[in-house]
Parts: sequence; C-alpha cells; structure tokens
Amino acid sequence: MPFVRKEGRLVLQQAGQDIDILTLAQSESHPCYIYDGDDVLNRLKALKSSFDRPVSIHYAMKANHHPEILRRIAAAGYGVDTVSMGEVKKAMKCGFSADQVVLSGVGKTVAEIDFAIENQIKQINVESVPELQRIIHRSQALGKVASVAFRMNPDVDPKTHPYTSTGFRDNKFGMDQSFLPQLIRLVQDSQGAVRFMGLTNHIGSQIRYTDAFEEATEKTRRMLDHVLESGIPLSTFDIGGGLGIDYDQYDPNKDLAEIGDYGLKMSQALKGVDLEIMTEPGRVIVGRCGILVTEVQYVKEAPYKNFLICDSGMHDLIRPALYRAHHRVEPLQLKSGETKIYDVVGPICESADVLGYDRRFEGVEQGDWLAVFDAGAYGAVMASSYNLHEPAKEIVFFDGKAY
Ligand code: PLP
Repeated sequence: MPFVRKEGRLVLQQAGQDIDILTLAQSESHPCYIYDGDDVLNRLKALKSSFDRPVSIHYAMKANHHPEILRRIAAAGYGVDTVSMGEVKKAMKCGFSADQVVLSGVGKTVAEIDFAIENQIKQINVESVPELQRIIHRSQALGKVASVAFRMNPDVDPKTHPYTSTGFRDNKFGMDQSFLPQLIRLVQDSQGAVRFMGLTNHIGSQIRYTDAFEEATEKTRRMLDHVLESGIPLSTFDIGGGLGIDYDQYDPNKDLAEIGDYGLKMSQALKGVDLEIMTEPGRVIVGRCGILVTEVQYVKEAPYKNFLICDSGMHDLIRPALYRAHHRVEPLQLKSGETKIYDVVGPICESADVLGYDRRFEGVEQGDWLAVFDAGAYGAVMASSYNLHEPAKEIVFFDGKAY
C-alpha cells in the first residue's frame, strides 16, 4: 500500500519501515515527487495475473520515466511502449532489449523510424498509410525488415476527457477498417521490407467506463478476423492501454478489484484469439505510486476567497490546469484548528495554476507541507520550464531504499 497515515503523519511503508514524508520533504526543502516503486511492480503483477491467459505487458513509459522505475520494470521482464526516439533510447539505456520495445505515435520522423529499424525493435505501431510507405521505403534503404502492426481506430466513445480520447474516428490516431486493403497491399508489394505483426488499438486514457475497452476490442477483433480469413498470418494483437484510476478516493482493495475486472473483461473479449496478446498500460501502473509534496508559502485569505499559495504548481503538475483533473490534496501532518476552504495554487503567473479547487483544511499555516496524491502518472513527465522555477526532484523508493 503506497502512503498511509501514522498518528496523523503521512508515511510510506516499505520493507517493514515507515518512511516519514514530512522529514523527507523538509530535508529536500523544495517540491518533490516521491514514488513507491514496490507498488509499481505489485500493480504490474496484479494486471498480469488478472488475465486468464498469458499477456505481454508493455509499460507506457510516457506516464513516468524515472530511470530506476524503468530499470526495475525491465529487470522484471516486462516490455515497454514508447512514442519517440528519446523514449526508445532511454528505455534501452535502462535495460529493455530491442525485442521488448514497441514504438507508437502519430508523427514518427525518418530519424525515429531509422532508429527503430536499425535496432530491430519488436513492433512499430503504424498510424497512417503515408507512415507505412515511409517505413517500407526506409527498410528497403537500410536493407532490414521492420515489424509493423496497424493501429486501428474502432470509433468508440471512451467517456473520458476529450483531450485524452483517441479512439473516435475524428481523432488523429489510428485508421478505420477501410484502410486495411490498402495497407495489406502495401505490405504485400514491399518485397519483404516489412513483417506484418498484427493489429493494435488505444482508445484513450483515464478510462473508467470499461465497457469501452470491450467494445474497442470486439470491433478491432472483427478487423483482425477479416485479415486472418484472407490467409495472412499474424502474430500479435495489442489492446492498448488507458485504464483509469479513481482520483477522488483510494481504496487498495477496490483498485485491485478494478484491475481484476478489466483483466476478466479483456480475457473474455479475447477468447479464441490465438495470438500474442499485448497491452500498453501507463497510468494504472504508476498513477497511484506518486505524490507531489509542496510547501505552503502564504495563506492568503480574503472575504470572498482563500488561497494556499504553494511552491509547486502547474509547472510541476499540469493535469489540473490542462484537464481540470482532480487530485486529492492533504497536509503531510494532519492538524486541528479552524476549518476553512481554500484553492491550492502555485506560484506561476497564470490563473489556471491550481492544484486543487475548494479544498477543506484544518489549522493550515504558512510553512505546512501538502501532498498532492496520485501524481505518479503524467506528472513529472509533463513538467515545464515556464517561469523557470527549479523543477521538482523525483525520488523513488524500492524496498526501503531511495533512488
Ligand atoms: N499506448 C498509447 C499508444 C498511448 O498513447 C498511451 C497514452 O495515452 C498509452 C498506451 C498509455 O495510456 P494510459 O497511461 O492511460 O494507460
């Protein structure tokens, strides 16, 4: 279990120790992300065992690419989903072998494609016809065979934020079924320059409505059957990532039940598919593992509005500003005193620079430290240099040891 309260103080319990977060935050004396690495590995295990068949997990490193987290995931034998040459290079540096690397993304450059082909990565997920043409051309030029899968767009409503929906047919991602004949013809005419591995989809992120995954899998599966019926052998079926977490509350048993339910639903939807099943989860693996800690610089109270002005904000964690995303915010040390409602805001010169709207705090004072929960995914990786504050440090604990 990542972070718990002991006598009102937030601690990380690992290897039989209570790591006191306030002591750690005060010693850093700067905003920092603190991650529970053991929890990351536990959640990967839970996801793997939630399927009733073997599944190849490719962790979507865009969610969090702390090097020690990547090293541990690689050492545990999982694969990785990447979306740029930078991510492929970092993944390989952290121990993933090329045959564990998948490259997704709509805008792959020639340099990125060449790097993927030269290194013979496991699979390039192709998002458009011109991208396939470019891959074929580059494979021929390099004299190597590229392994490709086609990212299909199943036109499914994932009922998530519009900015994290990717499986509608008017999104820039993937291709609808009508492109398949052209794609297959290009593969067949490529004189062996590309190896057609299978189909893939990814309909979005922070998806809580899991029926959407079933619908997407079923629709993509029909496309898959169509390809197989035409006699083309395939080897992989990649069901993407996107499973969400409940940012409003945390109950470890409920989390495990939700992961179990997802695995069960997917297993059922995949019955009879005799291919390697791949997934690309990010948020559900690392979202819970991280908190962002920040110090209250000023308690600014006015007759019409109260603010806790902190030293961290949208430059470290942009999700509330970008998506109006909700993160629980609590003091590292619970206190008693007068209860008031505050907006928790950062130092950035934007009114969108909010970590939490209308939050209730008791006895809060200047110099108190706060934890912003569930900040392990799409937190530090989306940080910006805007206003040039020193970025939040990232500390991960594995087995009671800090990295
Ligand atoms: N796969 C692809 C292609 C993605 O773009 C993403 C992110 O949206 C993911 C996997 C991981 O998504 P999530 O972190 O929601 O599981």
